[in-house]
Amino acid sequence: MVMPVLQKTQTIVRYQNYNGEVYYGIVEDDEILQLSSTFTEIVNNELKYDGVRVKYGNVKILEPVAPSKVVNFGWTYAEHAKETGGKANLKEPFLFLKPASSLIPNQGEIILPSSDLTSQVEMEGEVALVIGKRGKNIKEEEALDYVFGCTIFNDVTARDLTKADPQFTRGKGFDTFGPLGPCIVKGIDPTNLRIVTTLNGKVVQEGNTNQMSLSIPFLISWISQVMTLEPGDVLATGSPSGSCPMRSGDFVSVEVENIGRLCNYVK
Ligand code: MG
Repeated sequence: MVMPVLQKTQTIVRYQNYNGEVYYGIVEDDEILQLSSTFTEIVNNELKYDGVRVKYGNVKILEPVAPSKVVNFGWTYAEHAKETGGKANLKEPFLFLKPASSLIPNQGEIILPSSDLTSQVEMEGEVALVIGKRGKNIKEEEALDYVFGCTIFNDVTARDLTKADPQFTRGKGFDTFGPLGPCIVKGIDPTNLRIVTTLNGKVVQEGNTNQMSLSIPFLISWISQVMTLEPGDVLATGSPSGSCPMRSGDFVSVEVENIGRLCNYVK
């Protein structure tokens, strides 16, 4: 048996097998090399592999991390800021947090809240950074060293509530409003990734992280002046323009170049 080592570029998933056990694994074609390592051990290239491979299609893919916080940067794309009543941030990002209870995996269902609460739930397809090591007061020039890899986030938003409330917690914080995954891809450049969001197969959002009004290294450095970043924390980098309402029965997909597709039904 050959012990795997982390390659420069690698795709990592977290999944549940048919016994209900949760593992990380390395994706190889249609198979996953099962690891008994923790997330931090994987970051440190301490891979524990006992020769088990599972078929990708035979397991339930989970959110790739269980973060201590999901940090969201808002209005980092000028066109999206304009369409949702904000202004592109040129000096400092607009900041909010999503609760861990909002997270769902690829293929999980986005559950629309009762129509008494909101009548305008929209998608926001985003690139998310997964932090690999603890950091505080990180220098901009070292910021990308703290990123273990990239994944995909759908920052589902009750737009009527984010417009009505003085802050975003309610409109962004409903259960299931945080699809995350399906995988973490290590070793890709987060600063030039194309994002395409479709609703029922029709393209609604198209952008690239190279269009952001603030740079990703700046955002990492900036947030680390406020809060310590922990391994597994997720930083959602903001959404390009084109977000629109979703209805029950819709199918939303966020595709990011070199990572994959995050797909969810709306219930
Ligand atoms: Mg967003």
